[in-house]
Amino acid sequence: MDKKSRRGFATRAIHTGERLPAGDFTPVVGPIHPSVGYTYERAADLDAVLGGEKEGFVYSSRYHNPTTAALEQAVADLEGGEAAHAFASGMAALHLAFLAAGVRAGSRVVAAADIYGATYSMLLNLLSELGVDVTFVSITDLGQVAAALAAGPAAVLFAETLSNPLLRTADLPALAELAHAAGALFLVDNTFCSPYLCNPLAHGADLVVHSATKFISGHGDVMAGVVVGSREMRSRLDALNRLVGSSVGPFESWLALRGLKTLPLRMVRQSASALALAEWLQSHPRIDCVYYPYLPENPQLELTRRLTENRGGGSVLSFEIRGADRSAVFRFLEGLELIQPATTLGDLYSLVLYPAISSHRALTPEARAAVGIGENLVRLSVGIEDLEDIQADLEQALAKG
Ligand code: PLP
Repeated sequence: MDKKSRRGFATRAIHTGERLPAGDFTPVVGPIHPSVGYTYERAADLDAVLGGEKEGFVYSSRYHNPTTAALEQAVADLEGGEAAHAFASGMAALHLAFLAAGVRAGSRVVAAADIYGATYSMLLNLLSELGVDVTFVSITDLGQVAAALAAGPAAVLFAETLSNPLLRTADLPALAELAHAAGALFLVDNTFCSPYLCNPLAHGADLVVHSATKFISGHGDVMAGVVVGSREMRSRLDALNRLVGSSVGPFESWLALRGLKTLPLRMVRQSASALALAEWLQSHPRIDCVYYPYLPENPQLELTRRLTENRGGGSVLSFEIRGADRSAVFRFLEGLELIQPATTLGDLYSLVLYPAISSHRALTPEARAAVGIGENLVRLSVGIEDLEDIQADLEQALAKG
């Protein structure tokens, strides 16, 4: 292990990917490279770069861009992977990760049912229509996962480390073992944890995906996605992206890299505030049920603490408003004065989302009910504002809901 890789997470979050050689001077903050084309004095060098025998840049993002390379280097380092590939969004990253993992017509995918709605729809609609056989399972039921994997050869087992929106924890080491014993690759969406709380590759995952739109950028102003894995996986992703062009631009890469530097600070603060609010909401007379991984009552607490190395449970919690129908939830959302009712998470800002009309809208009411997403469920991503102000806003809006 070299000196740089022994450095702490916060140090690496700030420095990795920066100060890549740029001539005979080196800016402290890496530049944005908007250029599409890159020239070489010797045509043989251009030929070698195009042929993959030499590292370099010839054509921007659909191939490779220096600013995006800096982001990829940083995320790969923080996830403990050999290499990473950035994309235009988390969904683009997921799509290409499934393809790079070998999912094709005739393949099988075994996937957690309690996942982000668009991922569920991509598997159920897009990939199924293309001839992929998708089996959804309750990811916390290892017997059910094993049975699904035993039912026929599977290319991929897929799970979210902490699920969206019910915050169920995937037992990554046990799932990796089941996947590998069945000859499948284990693909993990680690968006809700960010690389700060958990590194799934260290627990046996083969590929890790992030919606970098969320915690990695952290400021609600970028859409991006990243896949982390082996160098060989990166080459496959690279070859696929040259054909489909799901590229992230250099300006977005730069913003994501800038946001990444404060990830540890944000995660510590957001996790502490989220736990305090989850505990407060639990005893609130208008609340039926609170889902947060670090609550003492969570039967998965010990597992979650182990996977997150006691660093925290993240910024996201979900809760059910007692007896609320859709119009009562709407009144609650409209009553909020500080917290933004916006369809995202992981920002500096506190944000609420109503899964039934947004993240999980594409699911039928029956499919939502089957995974436990009720009509009265609200998801909150706690920002870095003063805790007292977030709590006061929830209190006054609950009185209206
Ligand atoms: N994965 C998870 C867990 C998400 O919550 C989201 C979006 O909310 C995505 C993936 C998709 O990310 P993006 O919106 O950047 O495409």
